[in-house]
Amino acid sequence: SGRAGRDGLGADCILYYRSADQPRLSAMVGGDANGHNNLKEMVRYCEDLRTCRRVSLSQHFGQEFDAMDCNQQCDHCQHPEKCKVEDITQETHSLLKFLNIQKDNKEKMTLNQLADAWRGNGKSPAPSSCVTKRKKGEVERIILQLLLEGIVTEKIAHTAYQSNSYIIVGPEARTFQSSNRKITIDMLQEEGKRKSGGEEMGGKKKGLPKHIQNVVDQLTGLRTQLAAANTTSDGGKFLPHQILSEQGEHLSWIDLTVHVDLISIAEHNITSMEHLSTTIGQTKAGRFGEDILNVMRNIQEFYNAPASTVTKTSTSTTKTPVTKTKAKVGKGNRINFHEEIDNDFE
Ligand SMILES: [Zn+2]
Repeated sequence: SGRAGRDGLGADCILYYRSADQPRLSAMVGGDANGHNNLKEMVRYCEDLRTCRRVSLSQHFGQEFDAMDCNQQCDHCQHPEKCKVEDITQETHSLLKFLNIQKDNKEKMTLNQLADAWRGNGKSPAPSSCVTKRKKGEVERIILQLLLEGIVTEKIAHTAYQSNSYIIVGPEARTFQSSNRKITIDMLQEEGKRKSGGEEMGGKKKGLPKHIQNVVDQLTGLRTQLAAANTTSDGGKFLPHQILSEQGEHLSWIDLTVHVDLISIAEHNITSMEHLSTTIGQTKAGRFGEDILNVMRNIQEFYNAPASTVTKTSTSTTKTPVTKTKAKVGKGNRINFHEEIDNDFE
């Protein structure tokens, strides 16, 4: 995300993370104490659902930033209502009880195994008095928060083939158990109303007006051609959506639409390089802009052409511009039109 925004345009920074990633990373860090501290800070940042992102980042670099100045540019400031404080004091006591039973039985579990067992599943489930009814993702988040607080800790065990991270009772457990301390965690609010990703994608696509859909279809064809004919700066292959992305890439779990190149170009009927640059960025516009604008201008000319030049198929009365063939039809009119204007100025 460090390179985002260098063209002066808005950018979406997306952090891919899930709690279940932590044990693998921890095992990779191995015996490096500094590495473990860095990983903890990273996990803390990722698990934090409340603090303004810019405040967290600034703090990391020893700077101060007032969350008021964020201007709702980060997801936390945009949707503070999504996060709800929940008391997990009793659940923490239950988990510690379960971990102590494991210790007596000389058993040890990874985060994944522990999350299952605490929910009453797996080979050695927790006794019913300790079981939690939460979803697995929430259980993993709770265990990680307790890990950050030292109430549980991890033990890395090495085999000849791999290193595993096991969750055991931590150094702060005894103090917590003998005190009245309350522990809370921020949880994402249940959003029953939120549509699934599939509905969102299908619904939006179905809902497009026919003429917009025609443009999107043609641009989709173009991006496939461009992807096949070009290579990335490091010589790799392009995927079509890297050239022009589509509405379908809506991230439903964080309710964010990343890129809407195809539909933006179609809906705004973009036919100038300047407008295109502000929509898809200067780099992409510089590289693929002419091809994209050619398609757009041909479509434009098709719709502007006199009715007699429009070829209709016998099965459909809808105007369906096809770039290659219709380009010739419209182009003549267009050039004449510009020539007339030019002559006027002379
Ligand atoms: Zn913010």
